[in-house]
Amino acid sequence: MGKGFFQVPPAYNEPVKSYAPGSPERESVLKQYRAYYQGNKDIPMTINGKDVRTGKTRTMSPPHDHQHPVGQYHLASVKEVESAISAALEARKSWAALPWEQRAAVFLKAADLIAGPYRARINAATMLAQSKTIHQAEIDAACELIDFLRFNVEFMAGIYKDQPESAEGIWNRIEYRPLEGFIYAITPFNFTAIAGNLPASAALMGNTVVWKPSDHQIFSAQVIVEVFREAGVPDGVINTVFGDPVMITNTILDHPDFSGLHFTGSTDVFRALWKQIGTNIGRYKTYPRIVGETGGKDFIIAHPSAKPEQVATAITRGAFELQGQKCSAASRVYLPKSTADAVLDRVKKDIASFNKPGSPEDMSNFITAVIHEGSFDKLASYIDRAKADKDAEIIAGGGYDKSKGYFIEPTVILTTNPHYVTMETELFGPVVTVYIYEDSDWEATLKLVDQTSEYALTGAVLATDRYAISQATEALQDCAGNFYINDKPTGAVVGQQPFGGARASGTNDKAGSAQNLLRWVSPRLIKETFVTPEDYRYPFLG
Ligand code: NAD
Repeated sequence: MGKGFFQVPPAYNEPVKSYAPGSPERESVLKQYRAYYQGNKDIPMTINGKDVRTGKTRTMSPPHDHQHPVGQYHLASVKEVESAISAALEARKSWAALPWEQRAAVFLKAADLIAGPYRARINAATMLAQSKTIHQAEIDAACELIDFLRFNVEFMAGIYKDQPESAEGIWNRIEYRPLEGFIYAITPFNFTAIAGNLPASAALMGNTVVWKPSDHQIFSAQVIVEVFREAGVPDGVINTVFGDPVMITNTILDHPDFSGLHFTGSTDVFRALWKQIGTNIGRYKTYPRIVGETGGKDFIIAHPSAKPEQVATAITRGAFELQGQKCSAASRVYLPKSTADAVLDRVKKDIASFNKPGSPEDMSNFITAVIHEGSFDKLASYIDRAKADKDAEIIAGGGYDKSKGYFIEPTVILTTNPHYVTMETELFGPVVTVYIYEDSDWEATLKLVDQTSEYALTGAVLATDRYAISQATEALQDCAGNFYINDKPTGAVVGQQPFGGARASGTNDKAGSAQNLLRWVSPRLIKETFVTPEDYRYPFLG
């Protein structure tokens, strides 16, 4: 910092627009959606600020209309990945030296561009690429990404302010240096906000990045690239590479200047990456930081004192919004026998009131498509298995159809086996499994919740009995990084509920908090002595 202790503009959560019939925002997002739908976008990689087209391409289609092409993106070979790394390393020299307020201004500008002129574009692209309803697109691609960008600037300022004490004659200070090398950001399909935040949070702290988005999110990732470019992110600071994840990863993790992995995605992929980094550890110039937010098997447990309508609403919203494709989505539910029928009747009524799964362009649809054929086939196979298994029964939904889009009906499986496969395995779709416990087994059921899954991402308890809430809070302390009382387990808001889980769910570095940003800096302590001693003898030597 040069010439002032600057105060950053106070961060605030971006208000969610309604998109109600007749609203101007609805009209403009639909207009943009149709333009994208009818268009043929040719998406290059961005390396050192230049569009890079290799001519080797892959077609993009919306999950709800998979025979309809909306464009193609270009695939990297080793050469492009290497030039992305070189560009990042070259750009680091100027970017890391830039005064922090300049970096802050770039990302604050990006936030305002998304809030304003890019809002319809980023939302329409997310509706199309990831089959999100307008509400799901708005809370993710627009609001959450804006919040990440604004709040991270505030968190960064807080980190920089955190300084050590100084004794008489000495001035101690800490510089929060970016990591030495470059960061590799790998992002999942399901949140445009995460796709933007993973490269941006590291870059905000002065790092440069090679970013590999999910193949299934590139259409909306490109809007982020356009925003960053217009906001003034300099050439080479954030470079995109598309294509074969194994080749890209091998090229990057073999590089001696690799200094950090910012990953969100599935647990198996993260474990493999960690292992590969471990195997390569001798070749790196610095110990790489590893941040990974991964899978979940998120629970709802209702106490007999909970109101059935509240439990049902937590299930309907928590399990089915975005077709259950949130890492935080409720996918295993524990209901007491005394209220289970009332809860499940209400859930069935809720589901019956949804339209059949369809396109997000029809804004009366609550459920749209799952992301791709692999996901569809996996979900269909678990549904078929539940239809055949003796200890499981489908009590709502159970239908699927991939003739036009990858549509899976919201499905409720009731099981008599608390360790039934769908109580333990992350399915990542609109399928929730319910186990009914005897009211008198409340405490044993809390233990069951804790011990059933390898994950520990989110979970919710619903109860009106305060002793029960306290018991659950205590008993379930290690099985959710985000724990909800009398609410659904989804919908974390940046600046309010920092997000992340432990156990197999990740390193719990809490996206949307200073804790995450601290992983992208390597502090340097500077001690300055004003009157420097000139004789080695201490007084005691007398
Ligand atoms: P995924 O693991 O299939 O893909 C994530 C990213 O990893 C993509 O960019 C993909 O191309 C890349 N990838 C895949 N194989 C790879 C390999 N061998 N080497 C390097 N990169 C590879 O996950 P997804 O389907 O995109 O997203 C869903 C998963 O992400 C779920 O498990 C979900 O729980 C998790 N998720 C977690 C959080 C969280 O905050 N905990 C948030 C969102 C999603």
